[in-house]
Amino acid sequence: MGCSLIRGLVLTRTVLAIGIVAWGGICDAVGLQISDRYSPLNRQRAVRKRTDYILLHTTEGPTKGSLNKLQRYGETHYLVGTDGHVYRVVNKHRIAMHAGRSMWNGRTNLDESSVAIEVVGYHNRDITSAQYKALRELVGELQQIYKIPDERVLSHSMVAYGAPNRWHKHSHRGRKRCGMLFAKHSVRSRLGLDKQPLFDPDVRARRLVNADPYLAKVLYGSAREQLQASARFEGDDALVISAKRSAWDIARDKYKSAETEYVFPDGTRKHGNEIGNWKAMLPGTRVVLSETQSANEAEALLTIGEDGATAEDIAGNEVRAASTIYLMKDGRVQQGSQLSSASVKSLPAGTRMLVGYVHGGYVSAKRSAFDICGEKWNVDSTFYRFRDGKVVAGDQISQGAIPPLTMVFFQR
Ligand SMILES: [Zn+2]
Repeated sequence: MGCSLIRGLVLTRTVLAIGIVAWGGICDAVGLQISDRYSPLNRQRAVRKRTDYILLHTTEGPTKGSLNKLQRYGETHYLVGTDGHVYRVVNKHRIAMHAGRSMWNGRTNLDESSVAIEVVGYHNRDITSAQYKALRELVGELQQIYKIPDERVLSHSMVAYGAPNRWHKHSHRGRKRCGMLFAKHSVRSRLGLDKQPLFDPDVRARRLVNADPYLAKVLYGSAREQLQASARFEGDDALVISAKRSAWDIARDKYKSAETEYVFPDGTRKHGNEIGNWKAMLPGTRVVLSETQSANEAEALLTIGEDGATAEDIAGNEVRAASTIYLMKDGRVQQGSQLSSASVKSLPAGTRMLVGYVHGGYVSAKRSAFDICGEKWNVDSTFYRFRDGKVVAGDQISQGAIPPLTMVFFQR
């Protein structure tokens, strides 16, 4: 597509008025074909205050379904199809919800400081030469626009992290392998990226532990180590639970999702949200992952006695952290930092918990939900607790319907 054609296309889109300066740049990119497939949520998204990173993702599914899903949830700025065609989903200056629970060098919630590119493909397979060409152009343009050096072009797998769960007692890296291949030296050099991070700054600083040694080797190993790690064949058994492979190893943060299905050796099936006893998962159980669910799985309200026998099973070493919130059965709400270790141990079954959360305090006439948690006020990972004790997720609520003295909790 020629430069003038692209420009004509752009000028018909009033939303993009802010981007005019950038268009000169995009036009210099010979052969970059772009179409607009804006998310219905695009105009609602706030303009980012800063842009320090480019985050690369892999869709783990084919173009059409991925594009529909990304559009519906407003989960990326760009999508690069297997033929190298680029789709715009959220205006690049606005916030797209693509990183979920994320941290890099101590900074969290990278949606607020990054541009996202979804590449149609899989974390452990090479992309097409048309994709290399388009991605190289697109990344280069965005680096110029936002002054982003090569070492801050990251993969989603580098920045995603998980809150403690039944398999990992600490907040951990390895929640996702998304975009893993974009850490490979060979891939980066084809994309024109000369520098890359050589270690995980948050694991090194002990803010997180490493829950996926294989991933760490691919992300930060030498070219030779990466090659050896990638050569390890992951065949059909990759989706089957065994003594060495837990439900978390396979499904990661989607292990207890309603859209993840478990097929037991006897052929019976259950969804992730229907399983109570994870320790009794039979070897040979096959995991069926959904391709259509949102990349940012909603954080659930966890319950002692259901999601784990004790608070420690659920929050690991964060039981007494300020970011672990307890909704007591008697109606009190407490942060882990307010509890003694004895009282944590004696919490009864039915106590509900949020791990990795900010206690936002009360909504009032002078302090709206948006004032407290910004963009996150109406996402499914944010929770409201009404005076009567009822808890409602942010995507189920309208701003006018939040009475004063409602408490709000949002993901850190
Ligand atoms: Zn991703």
